Amino acid sequence: MSLQDFSHKAVEDLSEAEALVELEYLASEIARHDQLYYQRSEPEVEDPAYDALRQRNSAIEARFPHLTRPDSPTGKVGAPPAAGFAKVRHSVPMLSLGNAFGDEEMGEFTARARRFLKLDQDETVALMAEPKIDGLSASLRYEKGVYVRGATRGDGEEGEDVTENLRTVIDLPAKLKGSGIPDVIEVRGEVYMALADFTALNQTREAEGEQAFVNPRNAASGGLRQIDPALSAKRRLRLFAYAWGETSEPIGGTYGEFLTRLKGWGFQVNPLAERCETLEAGLEHYRRIVAARPTLPYEIDGVVFKIDRIDWQQRLGAAGREPRWAIAYKFAAEQAETVLNKISIQVGRTGSLTPVAELEPVMVGGVTVSRANLHNKDEIERKDIREGDHVVVQRAGDVIPQVVRVVTEKREADSKAYEFPKTCPECGSHASREDGEVATRCTGGLVCPAQAIERLRHFVSRDAFDIEGLGEKQVKVFWEAKLVRSPADIFTLEDRDNVSEQPLASQKGWQAKSASNLFAAIAARKTIPLERLIYALGIRHIGQTTARLLARRYGNLSALRQALSAAVDRENEAYTELVNIDGIGAVAADALVDFHAEDHNAEVLDALEAELDITPFTAPAATSPISGKVVVFTGALTQMSRAEAKARAESLDAKVSGSVSKKTDYVVAGEAAGSKAKKAAELGVTVLSEQEWLDLIGG
Ligand code: NAD
Repeated sequence: MSLQDFSHKAVEDLSEAEALVELEYLASEIARHDQLYYQRSEPEVEDPAYDALRQRNSAIEARFPHLTRPDSPTGKVGAPPAAGFAKVRHSVPMLSLGNAFGDEEMGEFTARARRFLKLDQDETVALMAEPKIDGLSASLRYEKGVYVRGATRGDGEEGEDVTENLRTVIDLPAKLKGSGIPDVIEVRGEVYMALADFTALNQTREAEGEQAFVNPRNAASGGLRQIDPALSAKRRLRLFAYAWGETSEPIGGTYGEFLTRLKGWGFQVNPLAERCETLEAGLEHYRRIVAARPTLPYEIDGVVFKIDRIDWQQRLGAAGREPRWAIAYKFAAEQAETVLNKISIQVGRTGSLTPVAELEPVMVGGVTVSRANLHNKDEIERKDIREGDHVVVQRAGDVIPQVVRVVTEKREADSKAYEFPKTCPECGSHASREDGEVATRCTGGLVCPAQAIERLRHFVSRDAFDIEGLGEKQVKVFWEAKLVRSPADIFTLEDRDNVSEQPLASQKGWQAKSASNLFAAIAARKTIPLERLIYALGIRHIGQTTARLLARRYGNLSALRQALSAAVDRENEAYTELVNIDGIGAVAADALVDFHAEDHNAEVLDALEAELDITPFTAPAATSPISGKVVVFTGALTQMSRAEAKARAESLDAKVSGSVSKKTDYVVAGEAAGSKAKKAAELGVTVLSEQEWLDLIGG
C-alpha cells in the first residue's frame, strides 16, 4: 500500500482502526527512509515528502495518543549505526532539533522557554543565531588536547566509529592549541562539503562514468562513512564546530563564549554566528543570513537559534529528540509550479546522456528557473515525468533546480510516457546502458562532437600515441578550426598544411620550427604497435592492460576486427572466444563489440588503417632477461621517456610497479632519484643506472 492510499483521508476523519494501520505503516516507512538517508546517504524521496510522513504521524498520534507505538518515529533521531563500523556509545546523547517555519513559531519557542524558566517579563533572553549547515553531525573526543576518537550521530545514543575518516577533515585540529583545554572534551559540529568541492567531485565522477551526487549533504555523509579513510580524504570534507558532549569540567557561562573558546583551540566557528539580545534582533539576523545564503560557499537549510545562557540550557533540557533551548528556523522549500515544455538531452564529455527539463520560466525563491536536471532515465520513469506536464520545481541553495513531482491532476488525457532516446542527439550513434549503470551512454566516442575533444586528447596522450607538442590545448584549437575532427585527421595534417593558405607556421602561437617539430612528431608515430592503437581508441573498459591482452590474442588489427564483427552475434564462437580471454570479462567484451558495430567508429578505424603502419603484436622473447621481474623506474631518464621505458620493459614481459617493496627485482634510478632509490638500498634491492639497465635488456 502506498502513502496515497492512506493520506487521502483527513486525520479528523480516521477511525481508530484506520489510525492503527496507518501508524504501523508510517513507522516502518519512516524507518526505511531513515536508513536510506542516514546509513546509505541515498534518499529515495525529497525532504518535503519525508517531512510530510513525519507530520502525518505526529498529527495522528496527537489525535490518538494511546495508539502511539513503542517504535514511534516521533522520539527517534537518525538511524542506528550501519553494519561495517564499530559502534561508539555517546555518553551525552546527540539530539536533533525542533523546527520553526515562521516568525510566529519562533515567538512560540521563546515564549515556551520563558514559561518553563518562569522568567519575568523584563528579563531578556539573549539568543545566538547561526546558519544551519546542511551536512551531518559528528562528535570528536579530545583527551589532553589530542584528538582520539570521532563518531557519527547514528541514532543519537550510538554512532559509527569514523575516527580515521574524520582525521581527513580539513578543519579538524589533531591537537588543540591555546589555553583552558579540559582534560576530556567532546567537540561536536557539522561535517560538510563546500559547493566548489562538490561541483568538482561531480565533474570527476561524471568523467569516470559514475553517478553524480544529488546534493553536497549526501556526498559528505557518504564520504565520511567510507570504509577506506583515503576515500574520505578525497571528498575534501570540512567542519564547523558548534557544541559539546562529555567534558571533564564545566563549559562556561554562555554559548557565545564557548564559540570563542572553540576558535581559540583551532576550530572553525561559523563567522555568521551572532548574539541577539531580543527575538526581534534574532529575526533580523535571520533575514541577513537568508540574504547572504546565495553567496555562501556551502549549503545551509535554516538558521539555528540557541538560548545563550548555558545554565538556562541545562535547566531547559530536552523533550524527546529535541532540546528545549534550541530550534532550527528552517527555510521553506523554495518551490513553484510550472510547465515542462520539453525534455532535452545533454551529452557529457564521457558520452553520458543527461536529460534536462526545459521549463516555462518561473520564479523560485527570487530566481528565474528555466531548466532543471532530470538526472537519468530511471529518475524520469520513477517520477513519470512527461513533456507537457505541470511540475513542481524546487531550488535548494545553489544546487541545480529539481523537479519534485508531476501535478498529475493537470495532465492532458492524451499525454504519453517519455521515451528515452536510443541514439545520441549529438552524433546519431547508438546510445546504450550497461547493466547496473544508471547512465545511458553514446557509443560514438570518436565522432561525437560532445566527446571528441576528450577522445582526441586521450588518443594523443602519453600512453597512447604519445605525440609530443599535441596536448589538450592544441587539440582544442585544431578541433575548433575544423582541422582535426577525427583521429585520422591528425595524420593528414601536414599534407593539408602544405597546400593551405594559412599554414600552421603563420598562425598565432606557432613558428616554422614548432610546426615542423609537430609534423615530425606525428610522422614518427605513423608506425604504431597494435596495443597502443587499441588503447588510444578510448573504448570504455579497455585500458592499457586489456588492450595488450587483445593485441596478444589477435595479433593484428584485421584479425581483431573480423572477430569483433562476428561477435555481434553473441551466440557466435568469436564472442565466446573474446569473453574467455583471461582478464577480459563480458563488460569489456560488450563495450568492444558495441564500439566496433557502430558504423561511425568502423569508419574511423578504416581511416586510421589507411594512414598508419600498425605493427602486429610480437610476443616477448621467452628468454627475456627481465621476464617476470618486477621493475620500478625512478628519477629522470635521459635516453627515453618514462612511458617508453615502461612500455619497453612490459614488452619484455617485466612487470612495472610504481613503488618499491621486497618483491621488487630492479630499481632503475635516473638522475636525481630520491626516496625510492634509498628505499631499494635499505631493502637490498638491486639498483641499476639507466645505462646498466639498457645493457641488461640489450640496448
Ligand atoms: P535536522 O537536520 O533538521 O536538525 C538537526 C541537525 O542540525 C543536528 O543534528 C545537526 O547535525 C545540524 N546542525 C547544522 N548546523 C547546526 C548548528 N549550527 N547548530 C546545531 N545543529 C546544527 O534534523 P535531522 O534529524 O538530522 O534530520 C532531519 C532532516 O533530514 C529533515 O530535513 C528531513 O527532511 C531530512 N531527512 C530526509 C530523509 C529522506 O528520505 N529524504 C530521511 C531522513 C531525514
